[in-house]
Amino acid sequence: MRKTLLLIVVLTTSLSATQTPSQPNWTAVEEETLRHFQAIVRMDTTDPPGTPPGGEKPVADYLKQVLEKDGIPVQVFALEANRPNIVARLKGSGKKRPLLILGHTDTVNVDAKKWTYPPFSAERKDGYVYGRGTVDDKDNVTGMLMTMLLLKRQNVPLDRDVIFLAEAGEEGATRIGIQFMVNQHYDAIDAEYCYAEGGNVTRVGGTVKYASVQTVEKIPRAIRITARGTAGHGSVPLEDNAVAHLGDAVGAIAAWTPPTRLNETTATYFKRLASVSTPEEAARYRDALSPDPAVAGPAQQYLRKNEPRHWSMLRTSLSPTIIQGGYRSNVIPSEATANIDVRQVPDEDPAKFLELVRQAVNDPQITVEYANPNSANRPPTPTAKLDSDAFKALESMLTKHYSAITLPTMSTGATDMSYLRQKGMQCYGIGPALDVEDGPKGFGAHSDQERIIESELHRFVRFAYDAVVEVARAR
Ligand SMILES: [Zn+2]
Repeated sequence: MRKTLLLIVVLTTSLSATQTPSQPNWTAVEEETLRHFQAIVRMDTTDPPGTPPGGEKPVADYLKQVLEKDGIPVQVFALEANRPNIVARLKGSGKKRPLLILGHTDTVNVDAKKWTYPPFSAERKDGYVYGRGTVDDKDNVTGMLMTMLLLKRQNVPLDRDVIFLAEAGEEGATRIGIQFMVNQHYDAIDAEYCYAEGGNVTRVGGTVKYASVQTVEKIPRAIRITARGTAGHGSVPLEDNAVAHLGDAVGAIAAWTPPTRLNETTATYFKRLASVSTPEEAARYRDALSPDPAVAGPAQQYLRKNEPRHWSMLRTSLSPTIIQGGYRSNVIPSEATANIDVRQVPDEDPAKFLELVRQAVNDPQITVEYANPNSANRPPTPTAKLDSDAFKALESMLTKHYSAITLPTMSTGATDMSYLRQKGMQCYGIGPALDVEDGPKGFGAHSDQERIIESELHRFVRFAYDAVVEVARAR
C-alpha cells in the first residue's frame, strides 16, 4: 500500500514538469485580486507627485510586502527615493531566456471635484470599480502581481525565469522609470519576451468582438514650420505676410494625405478586423489597403472622417498643434511658427518624409524642419514577431478565455515598450476587456470617471496567468 502510494506520488511529480499545471482556486483568487487592486487604487501615485512621501513608493512598498510574504524576493531600484521601481524574479531551469511582465504604478493626475466617485476610493458600483488607474495601469500591475503569486503557489516548473517589473514614471517621467531600468539595471530585467500594457479586448454591446495585442508603435516626433516675411504697419497689407503664409502652410499640411505605408502588423490587423466586421465594413477595410488609388481613395476618406485612428494606422500622420506669431494688433510680424505633431511609422525615412512635407507646403517663404533633429521622443522600435512563442501563447489564451480573434496592433501613441524593444526584447501589449462605448461616454483611461468592469479584471487575471504559464512552463 505504502509502495503503491509512493509510486503514484513519484509519477505525479515527474509528469508535472511536462503537463499543464493544475488550475488555482479561482474563487479565492478573485477575492484576493480585488483586495490588492482596491488597495493600490486607493494609493495616490499621480504624476507629477504631490507632497512627500508621494510618488509611487506606497504602491511599490505594498507590492514588495505582498510578494515577500509569499517568499518571492524583491529588488528595489530608485533613482529618486520616493519613486522606486521594483523587480521580482521566479527562477526557471534556464532552458529558455526569461519572460518579463510589467505594469506601471504611477497614474496621471486628477481634478478631484469632477469625480462622482472619489478618484482614490476604488468604489464598487453596479459591476464596476471606479478610480484613477483602474484601466491605466493598476489593472496590469494587479494582473502581473497575481500571476507571480499563483506561479509560486502552484509551484509551476518553469523553462524560463519570469520577471515582474512594477515601474514608476511611465506617464511623464520615464527618466526615473523605464529609462533608468534599461540604462542602469538592464541585467535585472533582461528577457527574450515582455508582456506590458498597450493592448485590450474590445466589447461591443457587452459582447467580445476582438482582442488587440500591441506589437509595434509609431514614433513621436515634431516638425516646426516657420514663415518669414517683411515686417510692417498693419494698415498696409503685404503679400509676404508671415502669418498669412503660415496659415496656408498649416492648412496644406492638415489637408495632405501622406502615402499609405503598411507593415506586417497593420496588414494583418485590417485583414483580421475585416473577418469580424459587417460585410460593408469588411469591404471598406479591404478597399483601404488596395494599391489602386481609385479603390483605396474613397475607403480611406471614409476612415479619415469616421475612424481617424484607423486612418492614422495606415501612414505617418501629422497634426498641427501649436501656432505662434505676432505681438500686437497693428504690427505685421516678420516671423510666425507652427508645431506639427508627427507620428512616424517605424520604417519611414525621416529625411525623405520631411522632403514630402516641404512639397506639400510648396512655399519658399516657409522652412520645414524637425523640432529636434537628433532624437525622437521615444526610440524607433522594430516590430515584435507574430510567429513567436510569446505571441502564440497570447493568441491561444485569448481564444480560450474570450473566444476572440487576435489582432496584432500598431498603436498610434508610444509606450515604455519602445525602450525594451530597442534592446531587442520582443514585447507585446495586453490588457483587460473594455466596452467600446465607455470611452466616448467619459469612462476611459485618463478620464474623470475612469473605471473597470470588475468581472473583466478577474478574467484578465485568469488570461494573464494562463498566457504566462503557456510561454514559460517547463516542457
Ligand atoms: Zn499606462
